[in-house]
Amino acid sequence: MKRKLVAGNWKMYKTPAESIEFLKELAANLKDYNDREVLVCPPFISLYPAREILQNTSIKLGAQNVYSEKEGAYTGEISPEMLKNTGVEYVICGHSERRNVFKETDSDINGKIKLSAMYGLIPILCVGEKLEDREKGSTFNIIRGQLEESLAGFKETEKLVIAYEPVWAIGTGLTATPEQAEEVHLFIRKLIEDLFGKKAGGDIRILYGGSVKPDNIDLLMHQNNIDGVLVGGASLKSDSFLRITDYR
Ligand code: PEP
Repeated sequence: MKRKLVAGNWKMYKTPAESIEFLKELAANLKDYNDREVLVCPPFISLYPAREILQNTSIKLGAQNVYSEKEGAYTGEISPEMLKNTGVEYVICGHSERRNVFKETDSDINGKIKLSAMYGLIPILCVGEKLEDREKGSTFNIIRGQLEESLAGFKETEKLVIAYEPVWAIGTGLTATPEQAEEVHLFIRKLIEDLFGKKAGGDIRILYGGSVKPDNIDLLMHQNNIDGVLVGGASLKSDSFLRITDYR
């Protein structure tokens, strides 16, 4: 059975001490689930202490970014091997804030995804259209371009998660309707089938992200092609994140 994935992206929030406190509370209150995985992606500096707390729990650890070189003179960057060594299993690649604020390109993201998979990390590739793209009717073209370029030459689709995150819905309080999200998820699944074969299309987990909250999670998770969620703001408070993990 394909397990769903509920992932929290903390962005640049929480000191190491705050991360520890939050994770202790999460670990103490999270229910046991067979059908879903729960993942937290704290800032780099909290990953090591997070590992200590999460090691005997079912909660997985992820990073928010990675660099596309093995090692070297790249001041301020973190390699896939360093993440792997710190107990990280997943890494978010190409979040829209990385694309828009830090000007990451699909080609940069392609390098990160390939090297991360080589080190046994599972990349979560984020794709999504801006509001003007949607208004022009170019949502599918944008998503196709991002997927084709970010995944060029990539083979290990069993080690890949995709997150559809419409940029206009991230941190804005606007959410894609379950139907809007489902339409794009189905498009992504078909495209993955075309690029990598039918099995890859069936196996791949496609997450929705963009103002996921306790009051919209249940409807989103009822869609056939939504295999989980990537949650920003609502993953920072234990009560809201716990309710999201407990979708029904
Ligand atoms: C995100 O950071 O990936 C995100 C979807 O943020 P938010 O849930 O706050 O919209």
